[in-house]
Amino acid sequence: MMFRRVRELHLIGRGRLAWREREAPTVQDPGDAIVRPFIAGRCDGDTLPIHRPVSRALQAGVALGVIDPVVGCICGSVPFKGPFAIGHECVAQVVAVGAAVERVRVGETVVVPWAVSCGSCSQCLRGLTSKCSTTTSRTLAAYGFGAASGPWGGVVADAVRVPFADHMLVPVPAGVPPLRVAAAGDNLADAWRSVVPPLGERPGASVLVIGGGAASIGLYAAGLAVAHEAAFVDYVDGDPGRRLIAESFGARPMTATSAAYDIVVEASSRAAGLRRAIRSLAPGGICTAVGFYLAAGTRVPLMRMYATDATLRIGVSHARAALPDLLAFVERTGFAAERVATLTAGWDDAPRAYAARTTKVVLQRDPL
Ligand SMILES: [Zn+2]
Ligand SMILES: [Zn+2]
Repeated sequence: MMFRRVRELHLIGRGRLAWREREAPTVQDPGDAIVRPFIAGRCDGDTLPIHRPVSRALQAGVALGVIDPVVGCICGSVPFKGPFAIGHECVAQVVAVGAAVERVRVGETVVVPWAVSCGSCSQCLRGLTSKCSTTTSRTLAAYGFGAASGPWGGVVADAVRVPFADHMLVPVPAGVPPLRVAAAGDNLADAWRSVVPPLGERPGASVLVIGGGAASIGLYAAGLAVAHEAAFVDYVDGDPGRRLIAESFGARPMTATSAAYDIVVEASSRAAGLRRAIRSLAPGGICTAVGFYLAAGTRVPLMRMYATDATLRIGVSHARAALPDLLAFVERTGFAAERVATLTAGWDDAPRAYAARTTKVVLQRDPL
């Protein structure tokens, strides 16, 4: 193996990140690959433990019954408590493969999905790759969520072990700039599921995106909805910079709306946003909520949903399942996803840049 010790970005405490050294990961199973990330996006969810004193508040909230106790089953009984290796959205170069790896080749540029999955269990075969029954026990199996989510570490690192490499790693098509698909392993795929399948069911539908909390996902969703020929896409956000990015994709920037929509994306990551999203649905409408709603009670307006015959979709995204279609779409159309990156920083600057209060951070360095 070419690395002995490797650098890995850790969240130490609120707002504090640092490089830590760890032993270089090695091929442990013939199906493993070792990859070297060279582009990493900051997932919208990572801003929660970075910018808010979330760990202690979550524990207290669970104890008081105001936070749903299932939070502990997603990323451990003490969620987001530093220090832990953070980061789970990257494009990487394959640097080593195990003896049983047949499809992935050393030197190839690949997207690494945020959740670790096997590709052959019944959940994976249904497309629920983030709920893989081989890799997932009590919590998620994922990069960058701490030890409770497995031994995988974070992807803002010099080397990362990827099991089931032939299934997990999806090559970036030739001609697609890697920076364009920086978020394909998580946030861009999350946006994809919120608008592309619903628009497939309802071609030419009207779309509303309520942005803000899941800041980059809302913008990717607005852009993808325009590119998939929604009748129109309204984008609501209090942030003028994000409204401009949404407008650049062809969405209509707004600060308020009173219309009813066939498809609504709730990306404010707030219970009030969820209620507003549901109340914005036209009859038969579909709402996908991509945020975290931690409270034990969110007052979802069920009678309103009954009256409008609404569908609410909520849950983690299954990035691996969406990646082939997503990458083929980007290759075919040149969809300018890089427009969402409001801060592109050098890899060595990760501890400072990753903490920035901005919509989307992308780290980059040269591939080998
Ligand atoms: Zn994420
Ligand atoms: Zn599986």
